Amino acid sequence: MSNDLSASLTAAAAALTDASDVTLLAHVNPDADALGSALALGLALHRLGKTVRVSFGAPDSVPETLRDLDVAGLLVPASAVPAAPEVLVALDTGSVGRLGPLADRLSTAGTVVVVDHHVSNPGFGTVNVIDASAEATALVVLRLLDELGVELDEPIARCVYAGLVTDTRSFRHARASTHEVAARLLAAGVDAEAVARPLMDSHPFGYLGMLAKVLSRAALERSAAGGLGFVHAVVTLDDAAGLRPEEVESVVDLVRTTAEAEVAAVLKELGPSYWSVSLRAVSRVDVREVAQLLGGGGHRLAAGFTAEGDASDVLSRLREALETVAGG
Ligand code: AMP
Ligand code: MN
Ligand code: MN
Repeated sequence: MSNDLSASLTAAAAALTDASDVTLLAHVNPDADALGSALALGLALHRLGKTVRVSFGAPDSVPETLRDLDVAGLLVPASAVPAAPEVLVALDTGSVGRLGPLADRLSTAGTVVVVDHHVSNPGFGTVNVIDASAEATALVVLRLLDELGVELDEPIARCVYAGLVTDTRSFRHARASTHEVAARLLAAGVDAEAVARPLMDSHPFGYLGMLAKVLSRAALERSAAGGLGFVHAVVTLDDAAGLRPEEVESVVDLVRTTAEAEVAAVLKELGPSYWSVSLRAVSRVDVREVAQLLGGGGHRLAAGFTAEGDASDVLSRLREALETVAGG
């Protein structure tokens, strides 16, 4: 652990210990790492007697698969976040924009603590606990819980595990020390299969029909991405009708299995001509760089951005950014 990181962990723990009211924010369209991290820390602070709320800027509803993590009823809608929070903690949020409509609270909060693992995080907090070598923000949260002297009970461990199993793709991108963390979480009572199956392995039957449509339109461009291959698919609002965001988010996990392509993209329609794009790479292309050229961000092998226009226009811009990063 670098000295910087241990100093910022100490400073964050002090700020949280002194606080009586803490607001924890995940990024927009929160995943298991964002909400699991926020709820793990939230549950611990709640147990220490503080007033705690957990929220995120958009959308209004909590992903169904993450609701059970909130055993203490800490989640509140964005509209219930105070105008000037005493202490604000932003988790798994690599940039200010990822707070969505709640980004304005950064200037009104008394103290802002940033807890994250994005290498591109500019450190927009008063205290910044950022470890770009951590596979998940949940790991950084666990260090903070240890710094706070919080006992790891099953509900807290489950929140950490949810973030960890998701961001490591079921521990395939986990270092040896991270497997040791997993062992510690299991020892605290986490049922690994019960946590992972709803998160990554369970969908309503309608999912199969949606996949059939979406995957039948997928396209492979062998010469794109500097000749490394690019595969893409588009999920329209119509394709996704009646399904949860969870079903749409998982499409990229199938598209990315295409052996002929180093890079995979899935365009997910959020509104008319408005897209959230998921990018994945196997090992050689830094898709964070690609996403950043298009106004987004993320990690080397998993990144994303939002874009407006026809799907074909978004794909052209993406192809061009891919050439810039991977070509020549
Ligand atoms: P996703 O494809 O939505 O699972 O996102 C993969 C990763 O890309 C996330 O963990 C974020 O780090 C990042 N990301 C996704 N969308 C955006 C965005 N619009 N802006 C910045 N980063 C993003
Ligand atoms: Mn995330
Ligand atoms: Mn994460």
